[in-house]
Amino acid sequence: MLIDSHCHLDTFVKSGEVRDVIARAQLAGVTRLVCAGTDAGDWDVYRELALTFPESVVYAVGLHPGNVGEDWEAQLSRLPQYFSGDTRPVAVGEVGLDEHYMPKDAQEAERIRRLQRLVFERQLALAKEKDLPVIVHARDAFAATVEMIDRSGVDWNKVVFHCFAEDAAAVRLLNERGGRASFTGTITYKNADNVREAALAQGLDRLMLETDCPYLAPCKLRGKRNEPAFMRKTAEYVADLFGLTTEEIEARTYANTCEFFGI
Ligand SMILES: [Zn+2]
Ligand SMILES: [Zn+2]
Repeated sequence: MLIDSHCHLDTFVKSGEVRDVIARAQLAGVTRLVCAGTDAGDWDVYRELALTFPESVVYAVGLHPGNVGEDWEAQLSRLPQYFSGDTRPVAVGEVGLDEHYMPKDAQEAERIRRLQRLVFERQLALAKEKDLPVIVHARDAFAATVEMIDRSGVDWNKVVFHCFAEDAAAVRLLNERGGRASFTGTITYKNADNVREAALAQGLDRLMLETDCPYLAPCKLRGKRNEPAFMRKTAEYVADLFGLTTEEIEARTYANTCEFFGI
C-alpha cells in the first residue's frame, strides 16, 4: 500500500473524473491521498472529498505563495475555522515562499516577496498555535524559508518540504533540525542527480513520496497528466535507488507519512 502525501485533485473534481481517479489509485495500491490546499478556492472542495471518501482522502488547508493576492487577509481569516469543525484538515499547507516567477520590476518583486513572507509567517503562527504539521512549498527560496521556520518556533518535526528539488546538503540542513523532505516523480528525471542524492542522504527513516499531481508525472509517463496511481512508478524507481524491494519502500513511506500527519 502506498500513500500519496501531496496531490491536487480539484481539477479532477471539476471535470467529474475524481471518482475514477481515486478508483485507479486504489487499483495501483495507492490507497490513501493527502490533498494539499492552495487557496480558499479548493479548501471546501477537499473537505467535501474527505467527507465523501473518508477511507482514502485527508486534506490540508493553506494559502500557496503563488496564490497570494489582494484578498489574502480575507482568505487567511477563514483558515482557523476548518480546524474546529468536523472533518478537520491534517495539516497547514501548502504554504511557503516561491521566488521562481518574479516580476522584472525590482520594486514590484520586493512587494510580492514581502507579502509572501507575511502570509507565510501568519500561517506558521497558526500551525504553531494549533501544533499542526506544515506542508512547505519552497521554490528558489530555500534559505529564506528555513530561516522563517526557525524564527516561527514551529516544531521542525512537523515540517515537510514537499517536491524536494535541492541537494544533499540542503536535506541535511532540514534533517538536523528534525524536518524532512518529500519526493515527487521528478526524482526519476534524468537531470535530477541532486534530488536522488538528497533522498539517499535523508535515508529511509523520514522518506515520504508524493505525486503533486496533476503536475510532474514520473519519467516513463512524462508529458501525461499526472494522477495518484502513477506514484507506483515513483515508488518502484525509489526502491531501485535504495536497493530495496518496492514492498519495503511501500511499508516505510506509508508508515512515515501516516505518522507525520497523525493519521
Ligand atoms: Zn508546491
Ligand atoms: Zn502542490
